[in-house]
Amino acid sequence: MFDVLILGAGASGLFLGSLLKNKKFLILEHNSETGAKIKVSGGGKCNITNKILSSNNYKGESEFIKEVFKKFDNKDLLNWLKKNNLEIKELKKNQYFFSSSLILKNFFENRLKKNIRLNTEILDVKYEKSFKVYTNKGIFEAKNIVVATGGISFKKLGASDIGYKIASHFGHKIITPKPALVGFTVQKSESWFKNLSGISFNAEVRVGDKKFNQNILFSHKGITGPGILNASLWWEKGFIEISFLKSIKKYLINKDKQISTQLPLPKRFIKEFLNIVNIKDKKLKDLKSNEWEKLKFLEDYQFAPAGTFGFERAEVTKGGVDLNEIDCNMQSKKIKGLYFTGEVLDVTGELGGYNFQWAFSSAFAVSL
Ligand SMILES: Cc1cc2nc3c(=O)[nH]c(=O)nc-3n(C[C@H](O)[C@H](O)[C@H](O)COP(=O)(O)OP(=O)(O)OC[C@H]3O[C@@H](n4cnc5c(N)ncnc54)[C@H](O)[C@@H]3O)c2cc1C
Repeated sequence: MFDVLILGAGASGLFLGSLLKNKKFLILEHNSETGAKIKVSGGGKCNITNKILSSNNYKGESEFIKEVFKKFDNKDLLNWLKKNNLEIKELKKNQYFFSSSLILKNFFENRLKKNIRLNTEILDVKYEKSFKVYTNKGIFEAKNIVVATGGISFKKLGASDIGYKIASHFGHKIITPKPALVGFTVQKSESWFKNLSGISFNAEVRVGDKKFNQNILFSHKGITGPGILNASLWWEKGFIEISFLKSIKKYLINKDKQISTQLPLPKRFIKEFLNIVNIKDKKLKDLKSNEWEKLKFLEDYQFAPAGTFGFERAEVTKGGVDLNEIDCNMQSKKIKGLYFTGEVLDVTGELGGYNFQWAFSSAFAVSL
């Protein structure tokens, strides 16, 4: 009988394992390796946390998130990395990266190799005086279990819905999981986006009261890029607003020059945009007043996405186990000894290291 079984050798499960002392524990993982998402994260450099950390960067119950960060925040994480000689190599736009994400993955693997059981698929969990975890490699028994099985995005990296199934089995409410940090597919009215596939530039993307001043990238499926990925976290339905360019009048000064030569935007984009608003690329002095109005769409373009690129392309899953039924030690308020950490919970961060920070902070908050 184990003191603890950690379900999933991803970011939160591995971090928790590395913190456990004087406990008989095992980490169960169905992949043939640990930390599959750590390995690919940040383009292989693992964007681990952010200099600026607030509950505002997260979709989820903000008071709960604040309580978790009181126990372990970005500074604590940086201290922990330093203490373990895991040197952060870069700081880009407030985001911390490693020179390679393998530094973190290998650290966990070396420290925990005796405590990890790979190729072990969790199929079911039951409680009969203790927790019984049913797997393809037999039944494991423990006094406590920590569900660290993540969300359902990127199935090819091992994601599954087992965490939600376990939570539901024990009577927990699941906030409907949806893809987040993902691109948008577009309706017919925005099919011109697809003609611009590959073009990227900085813009302001707004959804509700959130705004992101980051790159957007047109793609053959619709629109993506960091500004759009962040907007997808906060978008449920309705409109997304984009300022492709602000204060256009500031640029449109020379009355004898054509529109496309004056705007600091990619030429292909301007041509496609002018085509869609039905204006010829002409000298400014030839623009009619209603055409000036149409040009203002550059400052405030609104569109309703058709949907998203889906779970297979979503960096994270929003929704998950309802925080109202979890205490500040990450323990179920319904079943003693049942804990949840990481992305399986209804907390999702923006781009920029926020999701690893949550995975680690929520794991740290586990008090067995
Ligand atoms: C491509 C990509 C890039 C990313 N880049 C970043 C980044 O740079 N910075 C950042 O902060 N976040 C990033 N993320 C998000 C981040 O990886 C996750 O939010 C984080 O890993 C969640 O940690 P977790 O422990 O909750 O789940 P995970 O790390 O997903 O771990 C869950 C583990 O459970 C295992 N598992 C699932 N089902 C079963 C089962 N039935 N039986 C046994 N094992 C099972 C999985 O194989 C996995 O190992 C990225 C995600 C993706 C997909």
